[in-house]
Amino acid sequence: MRESLLEGMLAGPSGKRNIQPMTSTEDIRRLLLDLAHDLGDGRHMAIAGEGNVSGKLDDHHFLIKASGTRMSTLKPEELVGVDARPLLAALEGGKDLADEEIERLLLEVRTDPDALKPSVESLFHAWLLTLPGIRIIGHVHAIAVNQVLCSPRKRDFAVRRVIPDQVVYCGVESVLIPYVDPGFTLARHMAREVETFRKRTGVLPKIILLENHGIIALGAQHTEVIAALAMAEKAARIFVGAATLGGPVFMDEFEVYRIAGRTDEHYRQRMLERHLPRSDHADPAD
Ligand SMILES: [Zn+2]
Repeated sequence: MRESLLEGMLAGPSGKRNIQPMTSTEDIRRLLLDLAHDLGDGRHMAIAGEGNVSGKLDDHHFLIKASGTRMSTLKPEELVGVDARPLLAALEGGKDLADEEIERLLLEVRTDPDALKPSVESLFHAWLLTLPGIRIIGHVHAIAVNQVLCSPRKRDFAVRRVIPDQVVYCGVESVLIPYVDPGFTLARHMAREVETFRKRTGVLPKIILLENHGIIALGAQHTEVIAALAMAEKAARIFVGAATLGGPVFMDEFEVYRIAGRTDEHYRQRMLERHLPRSDHADPAD
């Protein structure tokens, strides 16, 4: 039987479903600590207060890294429970909030009034966690990715692919967001761009690139998020190196869709539609 679109999106590189039920807040807290430590300490993708991680607890609540805390040494109490509803209502409201109003809102949405203040990037996390099948978000300011995102070649990096594993772990293309003020403006912009991408491609992005800022990966599992971020950083290093040699020479679009189609029925379908020989389009009466 044909896999549903959602199942296809959530399938791992092997094509198998890799969703495990995440049962308790403590399970998710543990996964997020592993993710933060791996990204911060293991992979040096965030230093000082850079980057953040979040995980969905239920339809209305999520855990997110507290403002100003370090990914590499993140502690359990530095992951704050947040009610997403007031954040989403403010985003949908269309009214721009002043910095002090945002500060107040971030303190109000804590599920524990004694908890630390959640990251100002809670706004975009709240929105991304409403997307179907998305449970874990990782955001970092990785060096090689930022080398490209601070260069005139950023769009090439977002829409073209250099190696097959980049297709598998990062998708056939990524969303690219122009530099805008972090906080409300960024979250609103992101919602618009992700919806446009979703309408155009039929799938959710695995990677969102923020010009002059960093990278976000979204997935059902923390392992999926680590793999996407690590592969994007590797692809960016290859891209930068190849650019110094007059490249990169990008993968052919047909090959990109062929690889994506191995793990995702939707991409298989798009590849067939895009690359059907002309004769197959011909009127049978001809
Ligand atoms: Zn950031």
